Amino acid sequence: MRKLELHWQILIGMLLGIVFGFVMTGLDWGKDFVSDWIQPLGTIFVKLLKLIAIPLIIASLVKGISDLKDISKFRNIGLRTIGIYIVTTVVAITIGLILVNVLQPGNGISGDTVAKLTETYASDAGVTSKIEEATRQKDSGPLQFLVDMVPDNALKAMSENGLMLQVIFFTIFLGISMLLIGEERAKPLKDFFDSLNDVVLKMVDLIMLTAPYAVFALLASVVVSSSDPDLLLALLKYAGVVVGGLILMVVFYTVVVSSFTKKNPFWFLKEISPAQLLAFSTSSSAATLPVTMERVEEHIGVDKEVSSFVLPVGATINMDGTSLYQGVAAVFISQALGFDLSFADQLTIVLTALLASIGSAAVPGAGMVMLVIVLESIGFPADKLAIGLALIFAVDRPLDMCRTVVNVTGDATVSMVVAKSVGKLGKPNVKEWDDHLDEVR
Ligand code: ASP
Repeated sequence: MRKLELHWQILIGMLLGIVFGFVMTGLDWGKDFVSDWIQPLGTIFVKLLKLIAIPLIIASLVKGISDLKDISKFRNIGLRTIGIYIVTTVVAITIGLILVNVLQPGNGISGDTVAKLTETYASDAGVTSKIEEATRQKDSGPLQFLVDMVPDNALKAMSENGLMLQVIFFTIFLGISMLLIGEERAKPLKDFFDSLNDVVLKMVDLIMLTAPYAVFALLASVVVSSSDPDLLLALLKYAGVVVGGLILMVVFYTVVVSSFTKKNPFWFLKEISPAQLLAFSTSSSAATLPVTMERVEEHIGVDKEVSSFVLPVGATINMDGTSLYQGVAAVFISQALGFDLSFADQLTIVLTALLASIGSAAVPGAGMVMLVIVLESIGFPADKLAIGLALIFAVDRPLDMCRTVVNVTGDATVSMVVAKSVGKLGKPNVKEWDDHLDEVR
């Protein structure tokens, strides 16, 4: 029998997880059962993915840079990447703002609903912690992000997934210095990292064998911990606007892929779909990164010289889905609470949501922290911030899942465009987990 393709297996796991979650929600002991016995499987899977993220970034970036042979190429790739990332993010925020202004989801929200949501969530630890976190981030100076990017201890940077940009900085520094000592002298180190890279990609293959079961666990846990369905329903229009915008973003990517790379966009979506499904299930671009890299390199044919830089950087700074959501959420909250926004305010949203998406961490719920900063930039009253966030908190997790899919798809799209523009989009070269199994048996 032909084996079912990976994305189908994952999709089936997800659907069964959702159904199972609903069944368990109806049982007295169901929630505890899921959190005690099912959720840990999902958590282990996410930990395994995060476990290999840093070694993969280091190995593949060193390999990518040292294969370049010419540093000016790297500058070329770097500038294009950052430039295209900014363009796609601005497109995303613009789509979000147009939709939310035309459809005005905030105007249909009744005073009762506002009161109910405020009562349920305004003092919720989830909401207050997001505001505190945002205050902490905002208090830093304008160049703080550059200071934060430079590690003072390479090993410390590597020991924390949140310090991904520091690791990227160190690795680029290492890779460029390897180029400068000449091919012969750099060879031992290059061979080491080449081999490490192959090994870590094999680890991705092995971890992915468990993906269909892990997404079952992840989705069952999301369903049992989701909010009251009545509250979800009240926010349906707002959620619909965000999801509609995210779908338009995916359409935008397919247009970009077909016009800039001349590849079939449906083939592109099919090849990266396992990464998208994992982004949805984990709500974390960082956890999905190893799979995104594997799909883009082996299944799409983007050369490592490009993907090793574009994807890790993208996972941290390019979040089209998040910025679209921030634009919609900021305007929705203002509409619902009767806070008038001028055209200049909306332009401010474009700018701050762009910066906010760069500053958002690639972990679940990070987009909401930066939303606080977007709201503050348009002069939203500080004493109403908790109420504003309370309004959208109930649907944040499902929207987080959807925006993370777009964040990951955006990174993959840009890696293809950059690769094509520098002549580095080749043929796929798929490796399976058991390619060498007979040799070791
Ligand atoms: N969860 C998102 C990501 O990892 C960030 C966010 O929008 O909260 O890409």
